[in-house]
Amino acid sequence: MATEAPDTNLETVDVAIPQELPDVGLIRQDLFTKHSRPDARRRPGLKKIPPELRRRKPNFDHEQRWYKRFVWRLREDSQFQRSTIQAAFVLLCIWIGIEFYLFMRWGLSGGTEAFYSRPPGVEGFLPISALISFKYWVQTGIVNSIHPASLFILLAIVAVSIALKKSFCSWLCPVGTLSESLWMVGQKLFKRNLALPRWLDYPLRSLKYLLLFFFIYSIWQMDKEALAQFIYSPYNKVADIKMFLFFAEISSFALWTILILMLLSVVIKNFWCRFLCPYGALLGIVGWLSPLKITRTESSCIDCELCTQACPANIKVHKADRVWSDECMSCMLCVQACPVKNTLEMRAGIKSRPVQNRFLGILVGGVFVVVTGLAVLTGYWQNSISREEYLRRFQQLNSPVYQHFRGEVPEYGPHD
Ligand code: SF4
Ligand code: SF4
Repeated sequence: MATEAPDTNLETVDVAIPQELPDVGLIRQDLFTKHSRPDARRRPGLKKIPPELRRRKPNFDHEQRWYKRFVWRLREDSQFQRSTIQAAFVLLCIWIGIEFYLFMRWGLSGGTEAFYSRPPGVEGFLPISALISFKYWVQTGIVNSIHPASLFILLAIVAVSIALKKSFCSWLCPVGTLSESLWMVGQKLFKRNLALPRWLDYPLRSLKYLLLFFFIYSIWQMDKEALAQFIYSPYNKVADIKMFLFFAEISSFALWTILILMLLSVVIKNFWCRFLCPYGALLGIVGWLSPLKITRTESSCIDCELCTQACPANIKVHKADRVWSDECMSCMLCVQACPVKNTLEMRAGIKSRPVQNRFLGILVGGVFVVVTGLAVLTGYWQNSISREEYLRRFQQLNSPVYQHFRGEVPEYGPHD
């Protein structure tokens, strides 16, 4: 714990604990420019910050030209950068969704509607198929030709997590973006989000690890033949089509489940991601390999706890020298909230130089684009299912050979 320096050398500055968290929307300039509010209460025992240690707070409004202001904010404001990348990724997913809808319309019409090719990016929403493809690739060295993009998207996500912890969740994942938007709505409506007590939070957080364990264990038991049997099965060949139909013809049970999860996400920050997402559990484990961690310099920390209050993962940042938590999503909200210069930063080691804001988005987006771009360049992006084969399979979707039971697919022949 840092000790308080004698007051004689210090000048009092207005650092206080806000009664409520500052808003963190798509544009979060307020976190960057206002650390105190008129109604804020001062926490007794807070250290004072010498002027030379106060963090620089750029005022982007001084720049009149919008494009220069945009570039400046992208460089200096990690939250603006993150929101921009999140919005770009959501737009990309919407584009993929529209293309896939047009492909589905062609297929379900029996080929009478105009043909649109299937966007391979849709395989990013097939995590089970991706995990099976991954194990098959590790065991045989073969990138399967049914959902090759799913394997490369999984590899890209894992590579992003090795580079910058669970940053995929807070920078790229569209479900993470939706989840963040929902808790921000809750914060606007109710002025706060509900934080569960630890005795309930810990067991709930372990649910996602149980789900991950269930999937990994089931896949672990499959030998090479069983993996190939699943990958080349009629069911797996149309898994993306089945997923579309699941949402297009959603049952009332599934719809209510999604609605309840969304409502819970309004009240509790990142309800789905924190408690239930097995992908997030996997990335949390992989993220331990990342050398980059939020690092606190204890000697200059004034124990104001603004970092902890800003953290959407409820991590006690003000108590950690390095944030090792599997819940840290590298969202940088804590760093943005810290009022003291060079005190809370993303670093590879306690003594190493901090990673500048401008490189974070390049790192997260760059690693993802490089790995998926590699798949495109090496011909492992498009699958091998022809237009004629898809048309035939669209007509057979209700046949028993296109069903599965807990990952097990029915026997099928060479002509299925
Ligand atoms: S510790 Fe910081 S970077 Fe990690 S989740 Fe919390 S606020 Fe985000
Ligand atoms: S690290 Fe956290 S507690 Fe320390 S000065 Fe920064 S915001 Fe305050």
